[in-house]
Amino acid sequence: MLVGAEPELPYERPHLSKGYLLGTVSRVRLWLRPAEQYRELGVELRVGERVVDLGLERHAVVLESNETINWDLLCVATGSAARRLAGFEDALYLRELADADALRAVFERRERLNVVGAGFIGCEVAAVASQRGCSVNVHEVFAQPLFRVLGPELGAYLAEVHRAHGVEMHLGVTALPALDAPVVVGAGSTPRTELADRAGLALEGGILVDERGRTSAPGVFAAGDVTRFWSPLYKVRIRVEHFQTAQRQGFAVGRVMAGSADVYAEVPWFWSDQYDLNLQYAGAGLDWDEIVVRGTFGQPPFTVFYANAGELVAAAGVNDHHTVARARRVMQERARITRDQLADPRFDLRRALA
Ligand SMILES: Cc1cc2nc3c(=O)[nH]c(=O)nc-3n(C[C@H](O)[C@H](O)[C@H](O)COP(=O)(O)OP(=O)(O)OC[C@H]3O[C@@H](n4cnc5c(N)ncnc54)[C@H](O)[C@@H]3O)c2cc1C
Repeated sequence: MLVGAEPELPYERPHLSKGYLLGTVSRVRLWLRPAEQYRELGVELRVGERVVDLGLERHAVVLESNETINWDLLCVATGSAARRLAGFEDALYLRELADADALRAVFERRERLNVVGAGFIGCEVAAVASQRGCSVNVHEVFAQPLFRVLGPELGAYLAEVHRAHGVEMHLGVTALPALDAPVVVGAGSTPRTELADRAGLALEGGILVDERGRTSAPGVFAAGDVTRFWSPLYKVRIRVEHFQTAQRQGFAVGRVMAGSADVYAEVPWFWSDQYDLNLQYAGAGLDWDEIVVRGTFGQPPFTVFYANAGELVAAAGVNDHHTVARARRVMQERARITRDQLADPRFDLRRALA
């Protein structure tokens, strides 16, 4: 049984800040699968139902309606919520379909739009808004958009891309001026751990799970954005807030719940679309001390590699998905690769694989 608070069929959130906002992806295309497929798969879907208690002792979750549902095994996949910014309680935030609908209404009116935060959501919203004819101001505390993940070089490049599309980028803003509505805030997200917290599950900026999605309570698993999971690959616990990890880790946890000895031990990967640029990133957002560029920086396709103590830890490509996919395999297999090989576009990264 799959219980979810939102009234919709399960849907893919990434479109909400891209094609769905732009109007090129219809509502129906958001659904993960049509309703009848859940029936065919033997999944009972209970949408529009909020769980208020995980009921660990009685092995029965409690719904808001007071109904209880017994379970033998439980998986908590409550995801993330948009981080709320103090002083911006009335702003627009983007996490759910209803939020995207509200934003679309703003775009219809071709208004001036203020975007607070130049992370992925802020950048994507700014890109769509400007493509839809709004005049857009972006306000960001860091010196560049996506600074923490991509670093100053790619950040500066993206800032220029937005400026070239007419977006005003206010970067390194320490104190925000009074902003006229409408304001969209994209200030990151926080794991929705309230239920897990009340149930006494071990937490640390996310529900703590091992590489099989097991929480601190027997029979209780967790998957997706809400988890901080042990990565056998990186030998640390990591939290990832991206689609492909939520999906792949979710698959692994589902298999474990069904009795397999699977583990999730993959290099995370995600993408972002802004204007005609497709940015892809492979890696876990770990620290780096050196970057290496393949291609001509600023002229897509090109890729920035991030290395730490000589080891490749991440790759971010602009319109260069083959390179990122191959770099991901290099990292997955911890294959040795030199700086020169990374920089040389003629060197096929697959040659570094055993
Ligand atoms: C606008 C937007 C754009 C994005 N774009 C990208 C992208 O381009 N690339 C990328 O890699 N990632 C992207 N992401 C991130 C990606 O969507 C998430 O990583 C992914 O949705 C996480 O899946 P999840 O199932 O763990 O959590 P969620 O998708 O957050 O789902 C959790 C569900 O649990 C429900 N829930 C919570 N509490 C309860 C409760 N008490 N009772 C019942 N149900 C409950 C919620 O209502 C929600 O439906 C984007 C996210 C957003 C919001």
